[in-house]
Amino acid sequence: MPTPVSDVATTSTSTAAAARPGKPRKVPRVVILGGGTVGLYTARRLRKRLGKREAAIVVVDPRPYMTYAPFLPEAAAGSIDPRNVVAPHRRALKGIDVLQGKVSEINHAGRTVQITPEEGDPYWITYDHLVVGLGSVARTLPIPGLAEQGIGFKNVEEAIAVRNHVLNRIDVAASTWDPDLRKRMLTFVFVGGGFAGIEALAEVEDMARAAVKYYKAIEQEELRFVLVEGSPRILPEVSEELGGYTLEQLRKRQIEIHLSTFLNSCVDGHVVLSNKMEFDAETLIWTAGVKANPVLQNSDLPLDKMGRVTCNAALQVVDADGAVVADAYAAGDCAAVPDLYNPGQFCPPNAQHALREGNHLGDNLSRVLRSAEVTDYKHKNIGAVASLGMYKGVAQMFGKVKVRGFLAWVLHRSYHVAAMPTWNRKIRIAAGWTGALLLRREVVALGTLHDPRAEFRAASVPAKPRAVEPGEGDKALPPQKAEPGSPAAKSSAKTA
Ligand SMILES: Cc1cc2nc3c(=O)[nH]c(=O)nc-3n(C[C@H](O)[C@H](O)[C@H](O)COP(=O)(O)OP(=O)(O)OC[C@H]3O[C@@H](n4cnc5c(N)ncnc54)[C@H](O)[C@@H]3O)c2cc1C
Repeated sequence: MPTPVSDVATTSTSTAAAARPGKPRKVPRVVILGGGTVGLYTARRLRKRLGKREAAIVVVDPRPYMTYAPFLPEAAAGSIDPRNVVAPHRRALKGIDVLQGKVSEINHAGRTVQITPEEGDPYWITYDHLVVGLGSVARTLPIPGLAEQGIGFKNVEEAIAVRNHVLNRIDVAASTWDPDLRKRMLTFVFVGGGFAGIEALAEVEDMARAAVKYYKAIEQEELRFVLVEGSPRILPEVSEELGGYTLEQLRKRQIEIHLSTFLNSCVDGHVVLSNKMEFDAETLIWTAGVKANPVLQNSDLPLDKMGRVTCNAALQVVDADGAVVADAYAAGDCAAVPDLYNPGQFCPPNAQHALREGNHLGDNLSRVLRSAEVTDYKHKNIGAVASLGMYKGVAQMFGKVKVRGFLAWVLHRSYHVAAMPTWNRKIRIAAGWTGALLLRREVVALGTLHDPRAEFRAASVPAKPRAVEPGEGDKALPPQKAEPGSPAAKSSAKTA
């Protein structure tokens, strides 16, 4: 049954009261979908520009934090504490209401969005202005075995899982004499040679080699890292020369690279490539690109062929004829924003644009709310920096300046720590790096974290059914088996 439109969704009483049906809101409500890079920067800029009587701001996200994704490879490698690559919403978004839940439908014509919380029924909230910053999801293909075997690399939970999984596989390999099992455990496949994939591969490989030094039973040569890339080159974001240099560095590290090659299948960990190569691998990390958040398909907003919200350079949503859709704005990975420095093209999906677009959107929306003119977003790409493990990196600045090795690695760390939101996180990250210089990085896997109840479950003693006292009636009956599909059956399945 559809849930009625509700306005009582925010924690702020002023916002909720101002939004009572039938009464025009005294304070316009801006609802920001997604509390990632775009969402966080838009909300903060808007709050900085406008007082609480000028705008009520609500951010909706299923996660209680914004993730700074460029640091995920270092988090997976243990060079940064994963907690420090996220900015907690409750701390970073002062004076802003945060709703934890997934946006499941957008009805812009009715100025409402449906939110599905982790627990409980979906509900609707209304708004006056909408900002869409829902980001992207991994772009996957219908490859046999991929859904069961693959691990994505888009969020901090996956980065932690990759780290624990890789270190755990090394532990398992060190505890078996079965040569085939050892081989399978020590083979790690990465699919996708873009920035995220190459950084993840290089950082994780570097970490695995550092970890193996502590294992007498495993030789460095036993570690097998494989990169599969469908195009003839890696790092399309930098020049061919720098991409070639990176390739050379990875090959020197014994990383096996298959270009112009596709993953055909990986059922039960048996990897089959389009170049006829076949082998077993326990670990397959999928980093082959992103696509706009599919929840946008459940909206009446105009989308392009790639599922992105269509925008003009002022970050206002526009329809197929270029007409502005009133009160709707979008930016970041989920939006097709014209790149004014490259006419005919759109801004690439990266953090460099997303955070600047977020700030620009905050400025533009504050102008709209003060009846001023919006301005166009224009940003010339300043370059790209990538870390390839401890003290190794590549960078290309302002199109021409190419830097390699230690200097590029320093540039990468300095650029990203400066871009990391909140001073709290910048200081923690820098302190962690300083500590690691003296104490070396941590190489322990806390794999059991993924099932914290397993040990307790194994140790628990089943409850004995209580004897029925005469006259106690139904009250003392032992628990009955629930009907399949009933709420009781679902709740016992959850806790099983
Ligand atoms: C591993 C990796 C490395 C990267 N390295 C770099 C780099 O070095 N340099 C660079 O410039 N860029 C890099 N990027 C890309 C960059 O991080 C993204 O382009 C940028 O974060 C996009 O910002 P966004 O706000 O559009 O999306 P995001 O920051 O992803 O935010 C989207 C938000 O929407 C939320 N959300 C999702 N679904 C829903 C829903 N249904 N309802 C409500 N909220 C929802 C998410 O939880 C998230 O908080 C990297 C990305 C990855 C994955």
